Amino acid sequence: MIRPRPCLLRDIEFYSHCEHHIAPFVGRAHVAYLPTKSVVGISKLARVVEIYARRLQTQETMTAQIANAIMNALQPRGVAVLIEAVHTCMSMRGIGKRNVATITTQFSGEFKSNPVLQARFMELVRAPSGGFSL
Ligand SMILES: [Zn+2]
Repeated sequence: MIRPRPCLLRDIEFYSHCEHHIAPFVGRAHVAYLPTKSVVGISKLARVVEIYARRLQTQETMTAQIANAIMNALQPRGVAVLIEAVHTCMSMRGIGKRNVATITTQFSGEFKSNPVLQARFMELVRAPSGGFSL
């Protein structure tokens, strides 16, 4: 049996507002999923990120919502989402956190149960140039 290759989309830029301070937070999302049979276009994954970023958000909630939306829509074997963002509400309050990115992750399915897969995802997200296979 041939299993379709995992898909990874890195560096989806987004712009959102935190629900606590109504202050902008900006960053990048990295999304991977293990397709069962259908593979969706990259633009659709980016669109999911855009849809959830548009709301008043917390970064943690947004990370989970993106993973859940992809799980529900594609029924993949697993989803991994990592978001790194800089919150202006932190830098404006002058607590010395200027430009420090907050990182949140959400793993579902095989990405949750398989630590090797999870580690590979983290490695690819941090790699200097894009990789599309796991
Ligand atoms: Zn805030």
